[in-house]
Amino acid sequence: MVFMKKSLVIIKPDGIGKKIVGEIISRFENENLYISKLKMIHIDRELACMHYCDHKGKPYFERLINYITADSSVVMVLEGEDAVNKVRSIMGNTDPAKAISGTIRSDFGTDITINVVHGSDSTESAEREIKLFFKNYYQ
Ligand code: ATP
Ligand code: MG
Repeated sequence: MVFMKKSLVIIKPDGIGKKIVGEIISRFENENLYISKLKMIHIDRELACMHYCDHKGKPYFERLINYITADSSVVMVLEGEDAVNKVRSIMGNTDPAKAISGTIRSDFGTDITINVVHGSDSTESAEREIKLFFKNYYQ
């Protein structure tokens, strides 16, 4: 387990509201990803801005932060072979309208901002994000 690749995954507030937390977790587990950490938290503005710091200044930034801080999210570390790419292909394109049918965002997303899930975009991002949400993970 120690040498497996990791991804930080968030089931965003609309995923909780749509009652698809179990469905989403099953899709990841069915592709052989293993949950090594999981918690439900209400992400505050400070944490949301740190998590999405690369998007500061974008026209959609305010809507993105309002969305992710609107209610509770499920945050988890998924591990397994090629975890970053595997998670992203299960999630689908950022824009649900462009996502392949059968992906989480195609099946459950509302629009390009309200898109149900987050997954790290690289191993380096995964490490940064895991440290942000699970402070003692690497100690
Ligand atoms: P995430 O980081 O949430 O997994 P992603 O990596 O597919 O999504 P990013 O480019 O990192 O896409 O964008 C982060 C989030 O910002 C998206 O999930 C979406 O909620 C929002 N977003 C990104 N691009 C746009 C856009 N052009 N218009 C509106 N919202 C956007
Ligand atoms: Mg991203």
